[in-house]
Amino acid sequence: MDLAFDRRHIWHPYTSTLTPLTCYPIERAEGVCLYLDDGRALIDGMSSWWAAIHGYNHPHLNQAAHQQIDQVAHVMFGGITHQPAIDLCKHLIAMTAEPLQHVFLADSGSVAVEVSLKMALQYWHAKGESRSQFLTLRDGYHGDTFAAMSVTDPDNSMHSLYKGFLPQHLFADSPKSGFWQEWDERDLDDFTAKLTLHHQDIAAVILEPIVQGAGGMRMYHPAFLQGVRRLCDEFGVLLILDEIATGFGRTGKLFAYEHAHIEPDILCLGKALTGGYMTLSATLTTSHVANTVCGGEAGCFMHGPTFMGNPLACAVANASMEILAKGEWQDQAQAIEAQFAKRLPQLAEHPYVTDVRWLGAIGVVETAHPVNMENIQAHFVEQGVWIRPFGKLIYLMPPFISQPEHIEKLVKAIETALNKPECFQ
Ligand SMILES: *Cc1c(COP(=O)(O)O)cnc(C)c1O
Repeated sequence: MDLAFDRRHIWHPYTSTLTPLTCYPIERAEGVCLYLDDGRALIDGMSSWWAAIHGYNHPHLNQAAHQQIDQVAHVMFGGITHQPAIDLCKHLIAMTAEPLQHVFLADSGSVAVEVSLKMALQYWHAKGESRSQFLTLRDGYHGDTFAAMSVTDPDNSMHSLYKGFLPQHLFADSPKSGFWQEWDERDLDDFTAKLTLHHQDIAAVILEPIVQGAGGMRMYHPAFLQGVRRLCDEFGVLLILDEIATGFGRTGKLFAYEHAHIEPDILCLGKALTGGYMTLSATLTTSHVANTVCGGEAGCFMHGPTFMGNPLACAVANASMEILAKGEWQDQAQAIEAQFAKRLPQLAEHPYVTDVRWLGAIGVVETAHPVNMENIQAHFVEQGVWIRPFGKLIYLMPPFISQPEHIEKLVKAIETALNKPECFQ
C-alpha cells in the first residue's frame, strides 16, 4: 500500500498533517482478527470502536449485504419506504423500553445526538416554552459535530477553541461511585443543584448511561442513573440517553439503562447497530414527545438527511439483530467480564497502573502517565494485537465472539507494555 501517500494526504481521526503517526495497513479481516498486508494477524481488542460486536467478515452479515445490494443499495427516504427499514424499526421498538415507539434513522452517532437535541428543543417550542439549555455530565462524549460537541466534556473537546460558536450548556460533576463500589448519594449533589437552579431553562438532560466512553472510560453506579431519572421527572425535564457506545450488549445488558431499571424519553443508538459494517444510527422517542413535536408550529420534525434509512445499512443491521436475538451475546459478554475481573486486578499491582475497571465486555487499565502512542502501538502490533489507547487509558472492548485465549493475549500485551518505559510519556 502507498503509505507515503496516506501520510502526506489523508487525515485520520484526530491527526496532524505536520507530524502524522504510523498507520497500519489492513488488508482483510476475519472473526476476531485483522490482517496486515504482510499477512500478520492482529487480535482485535477494539471492535473497530465498539462496532464489530460479531467479529469481521461474518457470513450472516455478508449474506444480508449481498442480497440487499442486488435489490436496491440506496433510495431516498422522503415519500418512499422499504422493507429493511420497516424490519429494523420493528426490531428496535421491540428490543428497547416499551414507551419508545418512534424511530428516526440517521447516518452517524453524532447526527443521532443532533437529532435528539433538536427533538427536545422542538418539544418545548411546541409547548410554548422557551428552553435552550441542556444539562449533561463532565467527562462525557457525544460526538464531534457542533451540538454534540457542546454537550461533550468542555476540556476534552477543547471548547475554548470554538468560543463564540458553541452554545454554553450546563455540566454537572460526573458520579464518583464506580459500578462495583458502594453508592455515595452525594454524587447527585451537583446535578441536583444545577437542575434545581436552572430547570426552567433546561430542555433535556443528556448523558451516557452507566459507562462514559471516549470522555474517560468511567463506569458509574446505577443508583446515579436512577436518581437522574427521578429528578428529571420531578422537574419535568426530558431525559436523553446516549447509548451509542453502550447499546447492543456491550455492558452485559442489551442496553445499559437496564442496569438501573429506568427508561429514557429519547434514546440514541449507533456504533454496533450494523455490527460494524456500515454507518447508521437511530434516535427513538415516545409517542408523547413525537406527537408534541409534530403538533407544534413546524407541524413536523425538522430533519431529513440524504442517506436516511439507507437500505443496505438497514439490511445488515437486521442481520445483526437476528444474531443478537439468539442470545449468545449474553454468555459471551459474561465470560469476557469474568476474565477481566480475574486478570485486570493482577495488572493493578503494577506501579504504572492507577486503576483498573471492567463491566461486561469492557476492560480498562488507567495508567499514571499518558501513553506514547507511536511506541505503544508498535508494541501491540509486535505482540499480535490491536489496541488503541488514548491519554492514560488503555482499554479493551473486544468482539463478543472473542475466546478466552484471545482475551488473554490482549491482557498480556497490556501487561508487557507496562514493563516498557518507552510505551509511556
Ligand atoms: C462514538 C460516539 C458518538 C458519536 O458517534 P459517531 O458515529 O462517531 O458520530 C456519540 N456518543 C457516544 C456515546 C459515542 O461513543
